Amino acid sequence: MNVKKFGGSSLADAGKIKQTVEIVKQNKDTSLCLVLSAMKGVTNTLVEAAQWAESGDKKYQNNIEKIRKKHLDCVNDLFIDPKPEGIEYTIESMFVELNEILHGVELVRECSAKTMDLIMSFGERLNCYQVTAYLNHIGINARYIDSRDIIKTDSAHGKGNVDFKKTYERIQHNLIDIESSIPVICGFIASDDSDRTTTLGRNGSDYTASIIGAALNADRVEIWTDVDGVLTADPRVVKNAFVIPQLSIEEAMELSFFGAEVIHPYTLIPTTDKNIPVYIKNTLNPSAEGTVITSNFTKKDRIITGIASIDDLSLINIEGGGMMGMPGMASQIFMSLSDADVNIIMITQASSEHSISILCRSEETDAAVKMLNKNLKSAIHNRRIQNIQIVDQLVIIAVIGENMKGQAGLTGKLFSAVGDANINILAIAQGSSERNISFVIQQKDRDSALIAVHKKFIG
Ligand code: ADP
Ligand code: ASP
Ligand code: MG
Repeated sequence: MNVKKFGGSSLADAGKIKQTVEIVKQNKDTSLCLVLSAMKGVTNTLVEAAQWAESGDKKYQNNIEKIRKKHLDCVNDLFIDPKPEGIEYTIESMFVELNEILHGVELVRECSAKTMDLIMSFGERLNCYQVTAYLNHIGINARYIDSRDIIKTDSAHGKGNVDFKKTYERIQHNLIDIESSIPVICGFIASDDSDRTTTLGRNGSDYTASIIGAALNADRVEIWTDVDGVLTADPRVVKNAFVIPQLSIEEAMELSFFGAEVIHPYTLIPTTDKNIPVYIKNTLNPSAEGTVITSNFTKKDRIITGIASIDDLSLINIEGGGMMGMPGMASQIFMSLSDADVNIIMITQASSEHSISILCRSEETDAAVKMLNKNLKSAIHNRRIQNIQIVDQLVIIAVIGENMKGQAGLTGKLFSAVGDANINILAIAQGSSERNISFVIQQKDRDSALIAVHKKFIG
């Protein structure tokens, strides 16, 4: 059994959908499940529409019109007349509903995370509906599966946590008889215990595919995208980045957690539990080998496997002479950030204990600082903490590789490469596995740092 996931980049228009379907047609020997994202750009356009509507700006209607036209044009290009009965009517009805929801957002001037999930879900639903219709139209039996019926999460809207027991039961119960018709499953979307729409976080369709694969004990999960595999660096920045044919699970997890958006960071969790290999392949170049991620991989001959980066970060520096030797100070700080639902990306504490620095997403710093001021009120009042300072416009760069372990002098060489490019480092951390060294620099230096490190260590 094979799960193939096609991202928005593989489904950008009717031409790309046809290319995707060619790949589906080649799959003759095994049964197949398809997981699809929204058409390229649709989720972003929906999010923007919701934001316009929330601010009372009618521009949201243009966004919806743009998406409506995109789907109707696609249907026109895909189907040679006569079109399947009712296809345009079904699509139009979904837009009537979407418009009503957005009008509601406009009236109340509020778009909660709950409503945002519902709005975003239209992207995957519309696309899976039209692709299912197309497959049937050309004689491939396929059926539409709304993932809200099979993937159950808690009610953490925008980043639902999967309830694996319920989800696996539902998948195994619903996805029977795969041989007679291919399930076309909506990526990214799910539902909570009250059957309200949730999502698995942006880029979450990769995760949907691995959940389906693990539930059905698939032989392989394939992520089809618009690059030849996982590359040594983001190809948009490092032009000579190249494909890594094999990655260990840990390397792939580290690369994805540190911003290599080619796979969602949680993708490898369900497949690793079931020992299922994950392949990254290029829809536009299907004969390319791609990348395979497994536990049995051959060691590479270079020290660093790949580099990645996360943009739009801030450091929160908490300083004060009175923090020295104060047990519980770090725990109070971490509790405050957890209360504010802020995800900590990196922590550093000087051995003098005079300061603690926390790296988080810039959009979360306001909430973080508010909660720190509230929870650490007495320490601030009696001057044990003297200053909470924010440094914005930062990025973290992570250098990753199984072979980095025990390499004396690597850190020195790495930082001299960064120093030679005239880049100032604000904070440094090394994972205890020694598979990862990360450092924080200013956003403006990101590209030069990635290029300099890639040139020196990867080639
Ligand atoms: P999809 O629409 O298929 O889900 P994404 O845009 O989410 O595709 O992910 C693919 C993109 O990830 C590539 O086009 C590439 O620009 C970007 N990317 C960033 N880092 C890497 C990397 N290390 N390897 C491959 N692609 C990367
Ligand atoms: N369409 C969703 C997004 O853009 C999910 C995905 O593409 O994986 O985030
Ligand atoms: Mg993606």
